[in-house]
Amino acid sequence: MHAAHRGTIIGVRKDEGAATTSAELRAHNLARLLRAIHDGGGQLTRAELTRQLSLARGTATVLVRDLAGRRLIEELAGPVDAGVQRARGRPTGVPSAHVQGPVALAVDLRDDSFAVAAFELTGRCTVLDRQERDAGTGTGMLADLADRLKIHGAQFADRVVGVGIAVPSPVRGSTMVQPTLTEWQDLDVTAALGPSVAFGPVLTGNDATLAGLAEARRGVLRGVPVALHLHVATGIGGVLLTGGQPVTGANGSAGEFGHMPLTGSDEPCRCGSIGCWELDAGARGLLRADGQPEEGDRMLQAEQIIAAAATDPRSAKAVALVARALGRGIGALVNAQDPKAVGLSGLAASLYLADPAAVEDGYLATLMRFRRADPPALLPSTLGDLGTLTGASELVFDAFLTPRGLSAWPASEQKTA
Ligand SMILES: [Zn+2]
Repeated sequence: MHAAHRGTIIGVRKDEGAATTSAELRAHNLARLLRAIHDGGGQLTRAELTRQLSLARGTATVLVRDLAGRRLIEELAGPVDAGVQRARGRPTGVPSAHVQGPVALAVDLRDDSFAVAAFELTGRCTVLDRQERDAGTGTGMLADLADRLKIHGAQFADRVVGVGIAVPSPVRGSTMVQPTLTEWQDLDVTAALGPSVAFGPVLTGNDATLAGLAEARRGVLRGVPVALHLHVATGIGGVLLTGGQPVTGANGSAGEFGHMPLTGSDEPCRCGSIGCWELDAGARGLLRADGQPEEGDRMLQAEQIIAAAATDPRSAKAVALVARALGRGIGALVNAQDPKAVGLSGLAASLYLADPAAVEDGYLATLMRFRRADPPALLPSTLGDLGTLTGASELVFDAFLTPRGLSAWPASEQKTA
């Protein structure tokens, strides 16, 4: 809660500067309140929000009425608030997402597929599309995605406040600078898809970074002041988060932890470096440890090896080897970054759940001595496939839940409440 609150204040200051006039103060408070409703997932009562934001009760009443009048929220009947009941004897409402309220479209773009989902203000999500690339090209798949966004944009009409896109490449701004698919090299994703969406900003981020952002907002890293998140797929990416905000570097391409020589070999990596961690601890490491060729759907095969480990000794041995390599790298990163907790998603979560002892063994072996008595917890994600999509939606809401973002909400003239 504290981390989310702090993130709100930082976001508003960066965007708007200090509120000086009463109109600015009101816009600032509306954005703060809506942010708190978003962060609380629509579960907090008006009384709880009022206390959390240190608002006067009368001010909160006016702000809630204003947000409802602009069809940003609707207030559901809630429990009787003990504090209010003593004074007034009234139940307190629960400000929640308006049925005609803002929607963020989120895209999880991968080398071989994409998914599109719609997120309401309070984080409720509907997956709209999942498509495989099959035999088509990467360029063709982007054209399909543009078509789908056009259709879904029309479906939600003026409710769409932006599109967040998670991409399988390090990014510089919104450009994929080192994708696996050579067709996508130096592709500016926002520029490529922007013309097909006639609403809100189109915002792009690295998939592993956005998986970490999702954990900080809706998952296992919620409220953790300094957290490290690791997302393992074919490669290994991740992000350091402070106060719920990703530290993405000067160009947006920080967190390529898979391309650090954390487990030590001289083997050349596809990235241009040598001895990279992902060669030992990613999906490719697992396939090699199990004696399988590196071709086809590596993620699917890796998940199959992990599932087989419960009964097949060869798979169990491969999982233990790769789980230990994962742990060793985590220890090295904890030595460098000093996080309070480490989130794990993708194969990192599967490996940890399959063989926690092997991960912990490698982790404790590389931690510096002074950290071993109280090592940061390793926390497997529970968001599953929705993690990356959730992070992409948070990019959109971070832009929307500011005085400037809210001023563009087209419903301001429509009094539907
Ligand atoms: Zn590498």
